[in-house]
Amino acid sequence: MTDILLQGFRAFRDETYKNSSSIMPRLVREGQAPNYFIISCIDSRSNPATLFRPEPGTFFAHKAMGAIVRPYKKGTALAAALQFALIHNRVEHIIILGHTKCGAIKALVEKLEDEEISSFIDVAQQALDRAHHHCGHHCEHEELIKLTEKEIVLLSAENLKTYPSVQKALDENRVTIHPWLFEMESGQLFEYQPTKQSFVSLTNET
Ligand SMILES: [Zn+2]
Repeated sequence: MTDILLQGFRAFRDETYKNSSSIMPRLVREGQAPNYFIISCIDSRSNPATLFRPEPGTFFAHKAMGAIVRPYKKGTALAAALQFALIHNRVEHIIILGHTKCGAIKALVEKLEDEEISSFIDVAQQALDRAHHHCGHHCEHEELIKLTEKEIVLLSAENLKTYPSVQKALDENRVTIHPWLFEMESGQLFEYQPTKQSFVSLTNET
């Protein structure tokens, strides 16, 4: 049942443990010093470890449905992880990696009746309200979903600033927050640019 995972692990091990100067023995010896903290959805198609083809030690990863960042609350998994990454490891870039065709966003827009899920994603209601506002409450369903995908990334970026570790790093001018959206259908990556007030492709060379 888990053969496919073990097959992948063997390939990883063959590649990264070749000899004592290979990357994994080196990282074990010297410790890690990643420069990125990526918050992504649990979606199996939008996994940063797949998308960015990283070497071991490249980034810290945190996953939550819809890549949703709720406002700060002491003692949450994300608060502790950010504290570790920003205060103890001095990460310089936080990436919120939203994606299209997201089940969490569909659940929010279509008001999925599942109390466990809705009690987590309810905080993104504000993003849905903003999406409604943008299209004057006359959006086609698909358009509303597309707008909400973007608004959730922006809302998460705002909420991220309520975390004391993030606030401290921002005050000291040593961290940048990147609101990114992976458009699964086209295979493009977008970043929100405040000066343009829109998501701009990072990957489309044309
Ligand atoms: Zn998702």
